[in-house]
This record gives sequence, C-alpha cells and structure tokens, in this order.
Amino acid sequence: MQEKKRLGVLTSGGDSPGMNAAVRAVVRAALAKGAEVYAIYEGYQGMVEGGECPLPAPSSRDNEPFMGNVSLPQQACIRPISWHEVSGILQKGGTIIGTARSLAFKTREGRRRAARNLIREGIDRLVAIGGDGTLTGADLFRREWPELLKELVENGEIRPEEAAAYPQLAIVGLTASIDNDMYGSDMTIGTDTALHRITEAVDAISSTAASHQRTFVVEVMGRNCGYLALMGAIATGADWVMIPEQPPQDNGSWEDRMCSVLKAGRDSGRRDTIVIVAEGSRDSDGNPISSDRIKQVLEERLGEDARVTILGHVQRGGSPSAFDRNLSTLLGCAAVDEILKDEPHPEPLLIGMHGNRIVRSPLMHCVQQTHVVAEAIANGEYERAMDLRGNSFKDACHTFQTLMQAAPHTPSSDRQSRRIAVLNCGAAAPGMNTAVRAAVRLGIDRGHTMLGIDRGFRGLIDGSIKELGWLSVRGWATTGGSELGTSRKLPEGRDFYQIARQLEAHDIHGLLMIGGWAGYEAIYQLYSQRDTFPAFNIPMLCVPASIDNNLPGAELSIGTDTALNNIIEAVDKIKQSAVASNRCFVVKVMGRYCGYLAVMSGLATGAERVYIHEEQITLTDLQKDITDLIEGFKHGKRVGLIVCNENAHPVYNTDFICSLFAEEGREVFQVRQAILGHLQQGGDPTPFDRIQATRLAEKGLDFLIDEAQKPNPAGAFMGVEGGQVKFIDLSLMPRMVDKTFRRPKDQWWFDIWPMSKMLAQPPKKIG
Ligand code: ADP
Repeated sequence: MQEKKRLGVLTSGGDSPGMNAAVRAVVRAALAKGAEVYAIYEGYQGMVEGGECPLPAPSSRDNEPFMGNVSLPQQACIRPISWHEVSGILQKGGTIIGTARSLAFKTREGRRRAARNLIREGIDRLVAIGGDGTLTGADLFRREWPELLKELVENGEIRPEEAAAYPQLAIVGLTASIDNDMYGSDMTIGTDTALHRITEAVDAISSTAASHQRTFVVEVMGRNCGYLALMGAIATGADWVMIPEQPPQDNGSWEDRMCSVLKAGRDSGRRDTIVIVAEGSRDSDGNPISSDRIKQVLEERLGEDARVTILGHVQRGGSPSAFDRNLSTLLGCAAVDEILKDEPHPEPLLIGMHGNRIVRSPLMHCVQQTHVVAEAIANGEYERAMDLRGNSFKDACHTFQTLMQAAPHTPSSDRQSRRIAVLNCGAAAPGMNTAVRAAVRLGIDRGHTMLGIDRGFRGLIDGSIKELGWLSVRGWATTGGSELGTSRKLPEGRDFYQIARQLEAHDIHGLLMIGGWAGYEAIYQLYSQRDTFPAFNIPMLCVPASIDNNLPGAELSIGTDTALNNIIEAVDKIKQSAVASNRCFVVKVMGRYCGYLAVMSGLATGAERVYIHEEQITLTDLQKDITDLIEGFKHGKRVGLIVCNENAHPVYNTDFICSLFAEEGREVFQVRQAILGHLQQGGDPTPFDRIQATRLAEKGLDFLIDEAQKPNPAGAFMGVEGGQVKFIDLSLMPRMVDKTFRRPKDQWWFDIWPMSKMLAQPPKKIG
C-alpha cells in the first residue's frame, strides 16, 4: 500500500462561510506535513459515487505552474487536490468542493459503496466539515467500517489485503453551521459571518424604518438555536427578540407583553421599531410564532404599519468575516495535526474553539448534547434548554431584556445609589459607544446615577461632566467613534489635584474607563497616588478598547475585530485589483508595536509573509523572502502579499522593504505599497465588538458597584482569558507589560504567527 498518509476532506450539509478557509487549511497543512489529500466533491455524495472525475488530476508536484483557479467538477467524485487549487479561496463564501445532502449515504448500501471508493483511493483518514447531520453520518460510517470492509471482501469488491491495510477509518470533525448550534465549540464556522449579514441588514433597515416611523419584523435563521437572533438583537439595539429556547412566559399572552414594551418605546420617542425573530420561535405551548403572526399582532393591537423581512439565505452568503477565516484556518490545521498522527485517536474527535483556544472533544458526545437541547425545546422544557445553552447565553438574554426597555425598572429601595462616571481614552475604537450605552443603561436600571466625562482625562480635569439619561445613549449601540469624546491626555503635575477636586465636586463613587493604553496609564497613575489624594480611593476599572489589541490581560480588546475586518476588506480589494499583473503588495497596518492586527490579517488574507516588531527581521530574512517571492512569481504566482506592522522595524520599514523588493524582483514582479491608515479605525463596530462591548461593560459596571461598597475599593483592569472575564489588580500592571513597546509581555496569539507562513508558501518539494 502507499507509504504516504492519505486523507480525504469533505464539506457536507448546509454550506457556511469559512468552509473554504477550512478546506484550504486542511489541504495545505496536510501537504506541508507530507501527506496526500483528496477532495471529496459534493459531500458524502462524492464518496458514494466515487468514480472518474471530469477534471484532470492535479500534478502531485506542488511547485507546478499555477494557471488560475480550477473550476468545480460538475459531479460528485473523489480526486487528489493540490496546493494551488485552494489558492484565492479564503475570501470566498460557500465551498469550492461543493456540498450536498446525500440520501444515499443515509443507507447502508450507500455507505458500503462509500467505503469501497475510499479503499480504492487508499484513504483511511477523513476530515468532515459540516453540521451535526454530517458529523452523525461520519461517526456511523466509522463504526460500520470494519463490517463494511468485511462485506466488500466477501463480495469480491476489494481484496483482503486492502481490507487488512486499512482496518480503521480515522475521523475528525469540524463544525460548520451558521446557527452556532453545536455543543463542543463556542462558535461554529459561519456564525460570525451570518451575524455580520444580520447586523448589516438590520442597521440598513433601521434607517429606513426611522425615516417612516415604521416597524420591521426581521426573521433570522435558527430552528432550534436563538443565538443569531439574540446576538443580532444585542448588536443592533433591537426592541424585541423571540428565540426558540425562551418563549415569552406570561401565561401564553406574549402578544400583550410584546405590545406593551413596544408601545412604551414609541411613547418614549423611538422612531423605529425592530423585532427580531428566530425562525424556530414558539410560544410557551410550543406553537410556532411566525413573522407574519407578529406583523398581524402589531397591526391589530398597535395599529403599526409593520413590514416583514425574511433574511433567508443572505445570512449564509458573502465573504467570510475575519473571525470565520481565522477560526476555520486554526481548526483546519488542528484537524490535520490530529488526523495525521501515527495512531489517530480511537474515537472520532470534534475540533472546536473555547475561549480562543483549540479544544478536542469526543465527537459523538458533542452531537448527542446538541440533540439534547433540540429535544428539550421540542418537549417544551425551556428552562432546561436555557441551562444547556450555558451561562453566557442566559446572561445575554437577561442583558438584552434590560437594554431594550423604553425606561429603566424602578430601582429597589434597599440598594444604595452610586454615582459612576464613564470616560473614553486613547484613540477611538469601534465599540466604545456600545460599551458606554450598555454601562449607562444597565447602571441606571440598577438604580445608580451615570455620568459621562467629555474627552477623557481632559474633561475630568476641567470638569466637563454631565449626567447621562436613559435616552441620551439611544442609537449608540451601532455607531463607531466615541460619542462621549476621547483624548490621549495623560494627567501630570497639577492635573492630579484638579482631578481629585472634580471627583469630590461631582461626588463620583467609581470610574469606568473604556479605552486604550493612554487610559490604562492614566488610571494607573491615579491608583498609584491614592496615598497623596484620598479622593482617588474609589473603585476604578479599565475596560480594554483599542484596535491595537495591545492591552494587558485582555486577549481581545473592543475594536480589534472591527479593525481586522476593515483590513481584510481592503486587502481583498487590493488583491483583486492585481490579478494577472504580477504584483506584490506590501500592506502597512496599524497596531503600534503589537503585531496582532498584522498576524491575524495576514492569516485571514493569505499573506506570504507578515513582518512584526516582535520578530525583529534581519536582512538575511528579507533576502530569503525575496528569493521565495521571485521563485513563486516565476512559477505562475500572480499576486504577492506582505503584511507589515507599522513599527515592524526602525530601518527595514515598509518603504525600505518596497524599494528592496522592487529592485531585486524587477525582472519578475512589481511592488506596490498600500498604507491603510485610519480606515482601520473607522466604521461601525462589527457584531463581535458590539457583543463584547456590551458584555464587558456589564461585568465592569457590576465590579465597580460591588467595589464601591468596600472600604478599600480595588483599582483594576479587565481581561478576558479563555472566555472568562477577569479583574486584574492595577498593581500587577507594570509586571505584565513591556513599557517601552507598550504591549503585554505575554501575547497569546504569538504561536499563530508561523501558521500564516506555512499556509501561504508551498513546501519546496512535494511528491
Ligand atoms: P448538516 O450537516 O448541516 O446538519 P444534514 O443534516 O443535512 O446537514 O446532514 C448532511 C448529510 O450528512 C446528509 O445529507 C447525509 O448524507 C449525512 N447524514 C446526516 N445524518 C445522517 C445519519 N444519521 N446517518 C448517515 N448519514 C447522515
């Protein structure tokens, strides 16, 4: 039998954006590790049909000239796939190897044929990318494998030696589903992109709705999972949401409850009303609640001119978000690590992501747990369904129910009312407004007075402080920039005295700083001077908001995801402009001395090389990179992409690199520099940034309020590590940061950096 390990990759079930990135990662990581990879076209149907593929098999020598994208075969089949066939697909929605729902594979006969076809190709390792149906099918197939092989031998369809050579089928699953309905991964491939589509659509609908004072009922996908609806509602500041897991419980009269909330919103002056409904929503008796039914109720009871928009397949489509490209890439690489082991895990594994870390779980356990939620909903056990979804889902529901109100709840009299001031510091980061809105509303709802400070520490020094009401933050959930105003002002000298006076004059009991490095430094200064200024002995908290993602303790700051998406959208366009012109682009991205944006945008756009300050490139590195590029262009490469952090090197900066590459490569390619500049910082926040901002603001506010009860309240900065929110004492800050280069000493994403290189450059010799 063949010496090389041979694996098959397939995408099956409903397509989802990011599948291509997963296929690319699986193909390239496996080729880089010396394995052979076969694409199984049209999901399980390709495996069942096997047979001749209309496309010629690619050369197994991967440094063959690449003459452009190979088109999809028009039929299900299995064939080897090469490095170059997965070029230029990161930014494409759908799946280039096709997907299908295969009825034949659901039959034993179909699976027997599938086993025969895999054996004929010498494939005994499979990476299945799909939803729970796909993974269930994969598990069943693996369990039946020895029996199927026995039958095939008995029927003379395969030789006994063949059966003996492949006694087991190893399977690794990746969950791709826009619904985010799979146990075993915080996010499934495609969910984040679907949320992008939903927020784009609802943001657009909101503006027309506001012009006409209209009500829109927007139906989103999610038969058994309300994730898209709930997160879409939080991200867009919608007014009402319906999800399958939590039908309105008011004795069946959800209509009354919904109408009273929406009417109160209108009475408070809201010009538009947006109701988001998951397609699988139902009432507490289990009867479906359709978008048309909601429209009818709104018309009959409120006299509203309601319009229904069913987003449908738009949610599945379009270019995958940065998160989905990188999630898929990381999962695909981890799948290859697992499947190519000499002794693959005896059970099929699901590779998922938990708190930015790859996790491996028994596949069938995940599938079963996924079904348990669906069954709980079908049986009307809604509380159980919510418990199974987990605490952060429940918290998000609760938060939404507060934020969407037209006015705050009446505060309970037993709670002491505090005066909490909010400020933004540093450069504007998309999502700052969302965080301020959430903090203000949730604070008022808990019975506290919320104050807004104008332009960061400048405003605190000169007393530009005003009370923020419930309605003053209306519309802030979705907009970029900083409505409060921000500055990089660092207090010095007499400023501290002024700040102490202002804190006392405005009777401020807590400071919530939502911002970047300048804000962290300033808050640290106040904290350090508590002995000199007793007024600083109040709780203070830094909430990370900076596109640079250079703040200690926080794996992802508010704004970073938006910047990353801004970068990849620009780079996609730049790359497209250069097709067939033998160009190498050197793209300079922000990040100050932190390479996060460069590394992650490089990974998401397929950059050949990423230069970051943390690496300290040498001239020898650059020489090697030029040689690789020249080789690539000589062998059919048309576009080269280098991503460079703005401070990657004091001498070998983007200008230098461009000149050097242009000179050395002038016979073969041209060089263009693209400086993306402030467009990275602008725009409305992505759904992830809005959701993250809301979550962090709520947790941060609760922390401040708790601390305000204590005689020695803490000063802290906030982080999210492994999905858990943490509060780290400010006294630890100096130990955690590299002050010279203004970044954390320990950067969790650093290990990801070599991956983009591995996936972008073909190994020197394959085959
Ligand atoms: P998804 O993977 O998105 O949940 P489906 O439920 O349609 O989508 O499953 C995709 C394919 O996986 C099916 O068309 C079928 O070929 C296969 N499959 C699903 N469930 C099973 C099963 N119980 N046994 C065998 N194959 C299955």
